Amino acid sequence: MEQKQFQAESKRMLDLMIHSIYTHKEIFLRELISNASDAIDKRYFKSLSDNEGLNRDDFHIFLHPDKDLRTLTITDNGIGMTAEELEANLGVIAHSGSRAFKSENELDENTDIIGQFGVGFYSAFMVAKKVTVRTKAAGSDTAYEWQSEGVDGYTVDTCDKADIGTEIVLELIDDTEDEKYSEYLEEFRLRQLVKKYSDYIRFPIQMEVTRSKKVEGTEDQYEDVHEIATLNSMTPMWKKNKNELTDEDYNRFYREQYFDYTEPLSHLHSRNEGAVNYNMLLYIPAKAPYDYYSKSFEKGLTLYSNGVMIMEKCADLLPDHFSFVKGLVDSEDLSLNISREMLQHDRQLKLIAKSLEKSIKNELTKMLKTDREKYEKFWEAFGIQLKFGIYNGFGVNKELLQDLLLFHSSGCDKPEGYSTLAEYVSRMREDQKYIYYAAGESVPRCAGLPASELVRDKGYEVLYLTEHVDEFTIQTLQQYSDKEFKNVSAGDLGLESEEDKTALEKKNEEAKDLFEEMQKALEGKVKAVRLSSRLKSHPVCLSSDGDLSLEMEKVLNNMPVGQKVQAERVLELNADHPVFAVLNRLLTEDKDKLAKYTNLLYQQALLIEGMPIEDPVALSSMICDLMV
Ligand code: ADP
Ligand code: MG
Repeated sequence: MEQKQFQAESKRMLDLMIHSIYTHKEIFLRELISNASDAIDKRYFKSLSDNEGLNRDDFHIFLHPDKDLRTLTITDNGIGMTAEELEANLGVIAHSGSRAFKSENELDENTDIIGQFGVGFYSAFMVAKKVTVRTKAAGSDTAYEWQSEGVDGYTVDTCDKADIGTEIVLELIDDTEDEKYSEYLEEFRLRQLVKKYSDYIRFPIQMEVTRSKKVEGTEDQYEDVHEIATLNSMTPMWKKNKNELTDEDYNRFYREQYFDYTEPLSHLHSRNEGAVNYNMLLYIPAKAPYDYYSKSFEKGLTLYSNGVMIMEKCADLLPDHFSFVKGLVDSEDLSLNISREMLQHDRQLKLIAKSLEKSIKNELTKMLKTDREKYEKFWEAFGIQLKFGIYNGFGVNKELLQDLLLFHSSGCDKPEGYSTLAEYVSRMREDQKYIYYAAGESVPRCAGLPASELVRDKGYEVLYLTEHVDEFTIQTLQQYSDKEFKNVSAGDLGLESEEDKTALEKKNEEAKDLFEEMQKALEGKVKAVRLSSRLKSHPVCLSSDGDLSLEMEKVLNNMPVGQKVQAERVLELNADHPVFAVLNRLLTEDKDKLAKYTNLLYQQALLIEGMPIEDPVALSSMICDLMV
């Protein structure tokens, strides 16, 4: 028998194939099963015109591991190959009989036939040292055997084979330290691979399996029975009609796929037709996975092409702000690259990603409108991600995300309740210029700030920003519905009438000497000391000039990296408080004491703001000095 050489190009290709095209050896099974499925599709398609009277149920793919022989056999009763076809399809790498079949029969892109590149078959050599293909074409009397041990070439001969179809025998490579090829003889491993890659092949993939069964008539005696099991579920859940599916069906699928036993908050299931056609089945989980907010978390959706899994986590399908979404996309329009692990062009992917983003946003908006309780649950799990989404990329996504934001607010019914920005604006008073907010560790902390008390007393609502990212998010937004945001602890709150302002300026002018003296005592700590328009009952508070607020200073300085920053601090005093009179008296009577009191007031202001005290011991002895 003549040993034939692969064509020169093919030889190099085969080498490449075995060593570098695929990242996972295990995909050989996906490729061989896909070929078997294509072969069956072709035979079924032909039988329709030949009146062969075949039913879809007549077809199957069979896996047969043999531990003694160390072989794995994949059998199908598909179309088979003639001698010429064997030569053309398996003797020439990168020749796809399936692609040819599609164009000969004028089948459009919507066909289920998977093959297109003519290389998948050779992935068998990643796990096999010898591959034997026995095949008999539909309508032919002769069967042929093709055999190859890889780059050295192949032989073709006639052989005995009763049934139409193809049988591929892989003689597995010997196990090494690193690689246990014999795993592909294990029932559990084969089951697992079929589930992972080929679960939605539309013909049954079967195997003889061993099951432990109770011996009839006994209580506790078991025996091993052998039976034929179908390993794949065949119909992709997402290709079923929505009204055939119950919530429980969706939830079960979610549990099985994502190993999350908390029911998802909602699912999105649809078929999209347009520039790119695809099916999607997405879930919004109810709680964040334990590693969600860590670097090790990988976002992504499972990508299928014609029901065959291509990529387990396709990150490009999900923007970071929706990275919590789980699910899959199945498209027949993807141009895959040769390994089918990556996509040739990302144009289709970009189109899909854009439209998924829109769908997810719509789903969240709907949830916010129709099921507030559910939405707040979602918010507590993933709200931070949306806020980061606004802050990241300098606000490119603010239009998309701003109406999904929730904040605590003094305007909520419950102390820890949430308000959207739209709700806040709808409650704004006619004369109100700003959307006020206070930042701090907790709702009580924000509510207790002297400045936020004052703003509330004037009848305005205050948002309470309790999360680190909040103020950065607000600063990125700058405004909402044409209203600017205003930190109650910074700058001019816009609450004063012009007369009040002039009066305050006058008082400030009068106290110039006092403030000069006090600022000297706080050398380098504050930018200014002045009278406050944001104090009602407290003697003192700290505010900031400029863009960096005290709360942001705190957050930034708590980060493990980066330079230390300091807001432009201003010590503000309450002119109506008795302490102010005392300070004025000390200016003439006792400058040393004035310096001490100034320091004390400054430290108090720090405490109220939740800022660290520079020297707690010094503060404590200062207080003791006053007591004795
Ligand atoms: P592709 O599937 O992308 O066409 P492959 O390298 O996987 O490329 O297969 C090459 C060709 O060999 C297929 O197009 C098909 O014509 C033929 N072939 C492979 N496996 C079978 C099979 N089980 N039955 C019939 N033909 C097959
Ligand atoms: Mg193939």
